[in-house]
Amino acid sequence: MTYLSGLLALCLLSWGLSLPADALAMGFFFWRGQLVQLSGALLMVLLAALLLMATRPRWLEQRLGGLDRLYPLHKACGIGAAGLVLLHWWLAASPRWLSQWGWLSSAAHHAHQGGPWRSLAVTLGELACYGMLLLVVISLVKALPYDRFRQIHKLGGVLGLMAGSHGLLLLAAPLRWTPFGLLCQLACLLAMAAALWSLLGRIGLARRFAGELVSLSHPASEVVELAIRLPRAFARDYRPGQFALLTLDPKEGAHPFTILHQDRATGLTHFAIKGVGDHTRQLLTACPVGQAVWAEGPYGTFTLPAEAQTPQLWVAGGIGITPFFAWLEALARQGPRRRHTRLIYCVERPEEVLHGERLQQLAQQSGVVLQIHICQQAGPLAPAAVLGQSSPQCWFCGPPGLATRLALWLPAHRLRYERFAFR
Ligand SMILES: Cc1cc2nc3c(=O)[nH]c(=O)nc-3n(C[C@H](O)[C@H](O)[C@H](O)COP(=O)(O)OP(=O)(O)OC[C@H]3O[C@@H](n4cnc5c(N)ncnc54)[C@H](O)[C@@H]3O)c2cc1C
Repeated sequence: MTYLSGLLALCLLSWGLSLPADALAMGFFFWRGQLVQLSGALLMVLLAALLLMATRPRWLEQRLGGLDRLYPLHKACGIGAAGLVLLHWWLAASPRWLSQWGWLSSAAHHAHQGGPWRSLAVTLGELACYGMLLLVVISLVKALPYDRFRQIHKLGGVLGLMAGSHGLLLLAAPLRWTPFGLLCQLACLLAMAAALWSLLGRIGLARRFAGELVSLSHPASEVVELAIRLPRAFARDYRPGQFALLTLDPKEGAHPFTILHQDRATGLTHFAIKGVGDHTRQLLTACPVGQAVWAEGPYGTFTLPAEAQTPQLWVAGGIGITPFFAWLEALARQGPRRRHTRLIYCVERPEEVLHGERLQQLAQQSGVVLQIHICQQAGPLAPAAVLGQSSPQCWFCGPPGLATRLALWLPAHRLRYERFAFR
């Protein structure tokens, strides 16, 4: 966010520096033209950032704190871009409207300079504008199922190409080689390159590995555990707590699932998946052993925190136990035992506990105090009772409602959580 605000500020500053000395004495058309260029440039910076994020490069994902942090920022850029699109469009059309309302003489309207590409560029810009507004509305309303939303979202690449060409063709000639113009052109080119990358199906390709579903079991109620054989290269950079984008059905596309257990020697990678929607419920019943699977990743920064002198509290809700399970396995393997860590694992009913015995064993080996909280018997977890007067560093993974309850009791810098949704 800081980098993005810095880029937008740089754009604003370079625009300010490109203004002529007598700018304040200029009239309506000068300022309207300048603001069209400025809103267009800010829009292209946001578009370049959001399209770059959509290509999920590893360096950016790690810097932003994982894909579950990157996607909300991508969404925020989309909302900002929609606002700027409206402003840009309104500024561009304002002379026509003002003269229609009789507030501006039509004679004052300057003839447009520009080459033969001008009308094409204007049409591309208009279409991109409507497309972007539609895409943002679809994303915010959340009426469509996730897979349909994801398919429609691919249109973003086409819109990025259209908006980038519009920007490059309609950047005012006097501004073209100023720092402002160069920044604007760079943003257009970056947005177009990222859009092309996406349209050519190159996103994540370097980190996508073909594997085979080796076994399947049901370790807890409504949970299926898949063991998938993947090439060793997949686990080269793996850190416990990370997740993969798993494609089990090419028509359905990739879904994120935390790596429960990774065996470097055999390449077997385990995932515990809870049936919550169409795709995951289908996995509970129809997933033939031997089928081909694709795993992209690993991604994420929700990884084992270092031992500290102050107490650490780990809270898992339901299937949110998966990253903690991977952490405990790593701790039990590496030693030494932890002294100040407590893991509270909340489930609704006893049959929902995932690998209860193994968890107890891992907790004992690693020195972590494990408390399984069954809501049906003990009521919902009350953060006040758990935290008491202390304000420990807390890691959370589970339903958003529980995260919100914890956030009421803990200062933001003391709560680190993995979001189990990207939308
Ligand atoms: C970083 C991360 C790690 C996760 N780890 C696990 C895990 O270890 N075990 C587990 O059971 N679940 C995990 N999830 C949640 C899991 O990805 C969703 O439950 C699953 O994708 C739902 O798919 P569906 O089609 O069955 O449900 P739907 O009803 O289609 O979706 C339910 C919700 O899941 C999310 N979702 C759906 N499809 C996707 C997708 N392709 N990409 C991103 N989000 C999606 C959306 O927020 C959606 O609203 C994780 C999610 C994230 C983001």
